[in-house]
Amino acid sequence: MPYDFDLFVIGGGSGGVRCARIAAGHGARVGVAEERFWGGTCVNVGCVPKKLMVMASEFGASAADSHGFGWDIAPGRHDWAALIAAKDREIGRLNGIYRKLMDGAGCTVFEARATFIDPHTLEVGGQRVTAERIVIATGGRPIRPDFPGAEHCIVSDDAFYLKAMPARIAIIGGGYIAVEFAGIFAGLGAQVDLILRQNLPLRGFDEDLRSALDEALTNQGIRLHRGTTVARVTAEGAARRVVLADGSSIETDLVFAAIGRSPYTDGLGLAAAGVATNGFGAVTINEDRSTSQPHIYALGDVTDRLNLTPVAIAEGHSLADMLYGPGPREWVLDAVATAVFSSPPIGTVGLSEDQAAMRGPADIYLTRFTPMRHTLSGRARRTMMKLVVDQQTQRVLGAHMLGEDAPEILQGLSIAINCGATKRDFDRTVGIHPTAAEEFVTMRTRTRVAGQVVTPERDAEGPGAGGMGKAEMGVGAGR
Ligand code: FAD
Ligand code: NDP
Repeated sequence: MPYDFDLFVIGGGSGGVRCARIAAGHGARVGVAEERFWGGTCVNVGCVPKKLMVMASEFGASAADSHGFGWDIAPGRHDWAALIAAKDREIGRLNGIYRKLMDGAGCTVFEARATFIDPHTLEVGGQRVTAERIVIATGGRPIRPDFPGAEHCIVSDDAFYLKAMPARIAIIGGGYIAVEFAGIFAGLGAQVDLILRQNLPLRGFDEDLRSALDEALTNQGIRLHRGTTVARVTAEGAARRVVLADGSSIETDLVFAAIGRSPYTDGLGLAAAGVATNGFGAVTINEDRSTSQPHIYALGDVTDRLNLTPVAIAEGHSLADMLYGPGPREWVLDAVATAVFSSPPIGTVGLSEDQAAMRGPADIYLTRFTPMRHTLSGRARRTMMKLVVDQQTQRVLGAHMLGEDAPEILQGLSIAINCGATKRDFDRTVGIHPTAAEEFVTMRTRTRVAGQVVTPERDAEGPGAGGMGKAEMGVGAGR
């Protein structure tokens, strides 16, 4: 039976747009539906506006830093409405580019919600369309809390459209979004209370990174309420009271719940299509990204694995190549670098110390120092860098950094790690001086061994040492 389309993509976000565009480029007849905003979460209520707001939040501290360098710049007053308007203009521009990408690739565009009628039929914008293959790329949505008074809380989608900057904000959660927005609001001058149910933020990240971040948040003036949960939130006029599990409470102006995201499949008609989901509502997929229906595929956040934009894009591209092109493109998805745009930011790739230790003995190289800028600025802002090295093979299994430009630095390191670089390869690489990044190639002295005690003689210099020592370099560890 002839279908209206070879491929129909539900969702015009990071993964869906890439999949549709590449499939159309390979000659497939492609339809794509987007119900809300082209570019999806990342462009509209995620990575892009978030990073612009992180940038905005850094200028005040930079103005203060400049005093140590002889400037008398004062930060002045921040205009929240001007920031949001500028951000909205840029997002509008990007929406247009994404929409044009679809038209340019020859896709048939539906600016409407798509729902399954049966395994090959969708209803979209009041019309029925059929497709030989269908891709579910519907992303995720913020989880709303369920404690009494949850209606007084905002979630990340709302944070990008606030009419005014709150003077005080309480943020619930200790994950990516909570940490990033704590930095944004603190940088813009708000009093921030961060309420996390663990003792340290970012569960699952390397423990030294978590501790370094904890210190950085505290140095930024953020008040951490650790190991606790919210019992309820009440409204007291324009103010809000957050009552914690131990009965203590925080008075604030805005409560922001950043407690995770769930796959977005509400009302999609998955049952009519015969597509299975797991207990969390994520579409379950096989190795080739097919669902329980062999001709229906899913990718990106709706499958709830590694919920990052470049992963959704890689999956979309790979799927289109597999179905209509030269075969699936190769991506290394087991050591994906990720960044947390805290203040200062985090960049991390590969195994944490604890993960490596579970596989066998690992050599740990760790340095903490005050970066050059802050030797003059006087700001309490430290950098932490760490390498996790397999003791037997000397392969670098993980690299972790909290400090200025960490995400930029880790992108390059992730290539080395994906290529199987050893500590010796790092050691024989000549650094770029004076940078913080050069510490990754000048860390010579093993800090400790994780996983198992080994003979101490290698501690003296570490494998492959012989480059310039830190003393000659002028920028060293432990400052
Ligand atoms: P999405 O981008 O969410 O796209 C799904 C699209 O499908 C949406 O546009 C939606 O409207 C549409 N849709 C849903 N259902 C239907 C339907 N039935 N019919 C038609 N259309 C439908 N990742 C990073 O890598 N770096 C970051 O710095 C980063 N920062 C983030 C900050 C925040 C605040 C958030 C929330 C996320 C952030 N992420 C970041 C994660 C990133 O945004 C997601 O991993 C990424 O957008 C997932 O892409 P996707 O294509 O799977 O889904
Ligand atoms: P995360 O999964 O990163 O973190 C959720 C946080 O909320 C955790 O600290 C979790 O605690 C806590 N939590 C969960 N449920 C509750 C509850 N009922 N009460 C109190 N605390 C709770 O989710 P985010 O919302 O921060 O971000 C969603 C995803 O979006 C991220 O995982 C990431 O994939 C992506 N993202 C990526 C970014 C980037 O690349 N820079 C930036 C922003 C988002 P616990 O640890 O105890 O489970």
